[in-house]
Amino acid sequence: MSTLTLPHGILSMPPHPSAPPAHHPGEPLLLDYAGGALGEGASLAIATHLALCPACRHTVREMEAAGGALLEELEPEPLEPGGLERLLARLDEAPAEPPRRLPPSIQTGAPFLPPFLPEPLRGRLARLWRGGPGEGDLSGLPWRRSMPGLAYVNIPTNGGARTRLLRLQGGSALPEHTHHGIELALVLRGGFSDEFHQFLPGDIGVGDDAVTHRPVADPEGCLCLSVADGEIRMTGSIGRFLNRFIRV
Ligand SMILES: [Zn+2]
Repeated sequence: MSTLTLPHGILSMPPHPSAPPAHHPGEPLLLDYAGGALGEGASLAIATHLALCPACRHTVREMEAAGGALLEELEPEPLEPGGLERLLARLDEAPAEPPRRLPPSIQTGAPFLPPFLPEPLRGRLARLWRGGPGEGDLSGLPWRRSMPGLAYVNIPTNGGARTRLLRLQGGSALPEHTHHGIELALVLRGGFSDEFHQFLPGDIGVGDDAVTHRPVADPEGCLCLSVADGEIRMTGSIGRFLNRFIRV
């Protein structure tokens, strides 16, 4: 394993204009996240997106409030097709209860990491830190080289997902590919584009086996969290979601 010295350009870039993210996980994934149905890697990506996305934090809070309210009214057997729609239809009616889960927030711990990295990803990377020549960059992480223009750091997670911090040099392209299960790509710095969309910091791309694409890093490069999980699929399961409340 070799330490890769990274050009610092992408790290010293000013933050992207503070537009909120434009690409979100979508309600089924947020519901799986809230219900604890995702593996550790996918949960890490969703939770890190939540730290950057007020809209999705709001949605998860409302799901939790609606889930608690719905439980009090549901008959024992109503977890059937249509349950998700009914839950989502109730969101506007949900009482304004305090959230059961504290919203993730951008932390300032681990000062050797760049300030734009939010929790919970920040804490995971801090555990992998090996010391480096400079503070505020990513050179102390155990980078590995892959194809030209691509370096990555493996982030150990339970559940079988391949969880990586990826750095693509500007203009580098990944080979055209499709996905088995779900693949999440959360942009942290820079950006990438495929045939369909452009993804900027805070945006999360969700790929599945219906999507074949060829992502290309924007000219300034791209730093992203990539989670590829060949086994877990989105369920949007209202049953699993409500089970979380039953166990509490
Ligand atoms: Zn979002």
